[in-house]
Amino acid sequence: MKKLFVVLFYLVPAISFAQKENKLNVHNYPQNYFLNPLDIPIYLAGNFGECRPGHFHSGIDIKTEGKENQPVHAAADGYISRIKMEKGGFGHAIYITHPNGYTTLYAHLNKFAPAIQKYVRSKQYEKENWAVDLQFEPSQFPVKKGQQIAWSGNTGASTAPHLHFEIRNSQTEHPLNPEMFGLPIIDMKAPIVNDIAIYDMEKSIYEQDPRILPVSKKGNYYTLKDTVSVANTNVGMGINTDDYMDGSDNTITFYTAALYMDDSIQAEVRLDDIGYDETRYINAYVDYKSREQKKIWLQLLFRLSGNNLAHIYEQLNDPAYRGSLHFQDKKTHKIKIEITDDKANVSTVVFYLRANTEHKEDPFTINEGHKWQDNNEPDKMNRRGAALGDNISMDNEDVKFNINSNQLYDKFHFEYSHTTDTINISDRYMLHHSYVPVHSYFDLSIKPHIVLPFELRDKVVMKYSDGKEEDGKAAKLSDGGWYKASVRNLGTYWLAVDTTAPIVKSMQKNGNNLSKANRISFISKDAMTSVRTFRGLLDGKWICFEQHGEDFFYEFDEHCPKGKHTLVFKASDENNNTRTFTLNFTR
Ligand SMILES: [Zn+2]
Repeated sequence: MKKLFVVLFYLVPAISFAQKENKLNVHNYPQNYFLNPLDIPIYLAGNFGECRPGHFHSGIDIKTEGKENQPVHAAADGYISRIKMEKGGFGHAIYITHPNGYTTLYAHLNKFAPAIQKYVRSKQYEKENWAVDLQFEPSQFPVKKGQQIAWSGNTGASTAPHLHFEIRNSQTEHPLNPEMFGLPIIDMKAPIVNDIAIYDMEKSIYEQDPRILPVSKKGNYYTLKDTVSVANTNVGMGINTDDYMDGSDNTITFYTAALYMDDSIQAEVRLDDIGYDETRYINAYVDYKSREQKKIWLQLLFRLSGNNLAHIYEQLNDPAYRGSLHFQDKKTHKIKIEITDDKANVSTVVFYLRANTEHKEDPFTINEGHKWQDNNEPDKMNRRGAALGDNISMDNEDVKFNINSNQLYDKFHFEYSHTTDTINISDRYMLHHSYVPVHSYFDLSIKPHIVLPFELRDKVVMKYSDGKEEDGKAAKLSDGGWYKASVRNLGTYWLAVDTTAPIVKSMQKNGNNLSKANRISFISKDAMTSVRTFRGLLDGKWICFEQHGEDFFYEFDEHCPKGKHTLVFKASDENNNTRTFTLNFTR
């Protein structure tokens, strides 16, 4: 096999800190243009590119001393271009567009600075909706570097108080690695390598368990005890690592990881510039099955064929191998993995590997397509798969779906079976297993085994189980009596009927005097689907309830004057089952 690449970039151990950083900043981002947005030193609870379920972490999580309401400042001159309020994700978030082509994002905030807060509230009352997504003209809220824009919080998908801070390319909207912009972050600790994983590239990644090899550590240098002997000529490498910075116990991730064989580079990953449209390829970048089954993040130093996240691979050997190692002899080869963090601290793993088998001409032909396996009728195995090429689809009397080959990352034997269910309105259909990821949504239609009365036709739920937990979403009636929902997990599906409204629990007693309270709150959740809409009416007028997870609250404002009031709070699930709670109180 010819080596088709050149070594474009080589890290020379540098003397000064600044020099080291410049070496890493291959994109030439402006240095020291952006300020630390907080008044306290930067300690990270998370950094760019960390593996999270379904996405790469897109910014840095700056710790806020364990508390909320730290003043948050504009990192540079610019204008507020967007404010978004959502129950999950970033919670309350501000976007600032800067004249140098970058946009900064500040997320999980509590309140905004007074003028901004007042404007957002007026828009929420105008739209009668808390979850607004507002765009602004440059003249509306211009900001100066260091100007306070908000207070930090814990809103949205956040489990502890912190500030999520991003720097994006305004044009592509891709989040960039904020640590490449010279923010004052001190990190002298090299990444820690926990395990090396070895994959047989002649098998589907979903039809094997990697060989996990623990490493022994000496400073920032790691080795394996013995020479590794493999029984195949194509080998993939994975790594499980952690990184820490000075002054924080939280784990962060590396910046680059490079794989060498006999001192020639085979693959290099660089965690920077990952767009929202491609972040779900994390499910192909990591060993998804090991994550699902063993809760371990193994980052792969080869690119699965269905992984379209191409540009994080600075280097890959031959396009056919995409970073996997190809052995043409039974000699012992030196393998080196070099892992660099955002501040150019390096850890190196060196070990020796020998392929104890004869070289096969083209091992990739072994993997010839997704094969179909009907567990109810084993003799049907492979027939459909062969007819349908790389797509996986089904269209019988009970189940209909089509998963395109470009929604999958690697080939595998698709397993299907159905079991009779006499309690629910359809049988249960097993569409393979939850440990194989699907990149995007596909339509799944199931036919109930009874004719539903008219009044239940909009109360159908597509239920899902991954074998551990159940989940559900509303299914819509379509032509021919099918019920359809858009899904993106493999596992077991069936139909159920949901006529139960969400529960609503009041956190205050009926008839109470709430003059000392600053808010009214309810807890609401739905057993089968989710709380899709909610509404609070005070004496018949809409008031601004916020949602954070299962908490729904209204903070007293000028819309609730002193005196006696009647509040009606309504919550509806995805099938329009509605619960109404009436609260009388005095303020
Ligand atoms: Zn974050």
